[in-house]
Amino acid sequence: MTTVGPEDLVLAVDVGGTTIKAEITDAAGTVHSAGTVATPHGEAAFDAMADLGAKLLAELPAPHRDRVARAAVVLPGIVDPIRGLAVFSSNIGWRDVKVGNRFRDRWQMPVLLEHDVAVAGWAEWRYGAGRGHDDVCVVILGTGISGTLSVNGRLVRGAVGQAGEYGHIPVRHRDGLRCPCGSIGCVETVASGAAIARAYTARTGREIPGAETVFAVLDTDPDARFVVDDAVDALAEGLFGVIHASCPSLIVLGGGLAGAGAVLTGALQSRFDTLLRVATAPRVVLGEFGARAGLVGAAHYARVGALE
Ligand SMILES: [Zn+2]
Repeated sequence: MTTVGPEDLVLAVDVGGTTIKAEITDAAGTVHSAGTVATPHGEAAFDAMADLGAKLLAELPAPHRDRVARAAVVLPGIVDPIRGLAVFSSNIGWRDVKVGNRFRDRWQMPVLLEHDVAVAGWAEWRYGAGRGHDDVCVVILGTGISGTLSVNGRLVRGAVGQAGEYGHIPVRHRDGLRCPCGSIGCVETVASGAAIARAYTARTGREIPGAETVFAVLDTDPDARFVVDDAVDALAEGLFGVIHASCPSLIVLGGGLAGAGAVLTGALQSRFDTLLRVATAPRVVLGEFGARAGLVGAAHYARVGALE
């Protein structure tokens, strides 16, 4: 595999359901060129990603252009990094789309593909809030809930590469809500941003733009407190099994919803401190990269060449 040296630059592309973000950075993380475009659906999505990367490369001053040694594109859904294949993404409307070679041909450099959350979680573990720890569970809280698990200094990918789907651990399977995955009472149906907003509206009759509104009135609104307590209970219940199975020393909360900050880490920490007896309670901390974890991770991945 190509080696990326300390003088080289890398192109990082983070594809989300609504926006595609890209940056060209150096080894110190300095951004030399950056851009964002909306994510189209279907075949147009490939063109949007490829065009954005090409635009950033074209914007670099000539001597820097030849320093860009490798690119990494991180995608939602199911990704096959070995075959350069986007296996399935409901957000983009892709199924078995072979994109790795097409990016390489367009940008004229080696291009790595990976799953966005795997890369975001790996980055928080290796370079962010989890650095220095060998056993870390990173939970990315946002529209959905998923993350990564590192055990004995290695990222756990699982038999079919889908480790870390914390959002679909059933915690209310007797009386819970139906999850889009088809199951009932998944963590996501109670603890995701959308679930928190939905539960608050169901309880109060008030339409709100999102979970941030609920967190903003937590100290003065008993309904907001109830809904968030319920969400933290569900998240804690989902993570109890993970903690007993793998004994992480650290739980890192990342992603958009982690903007609620100390409220979430404190509430989750108190559940662990109170309820865990046999397993040692892990410390709960906030991620360092927030919503940029995917992009920061893609740059590190392009540089290192593997999630290790
Ligand atoms: Zn589910």
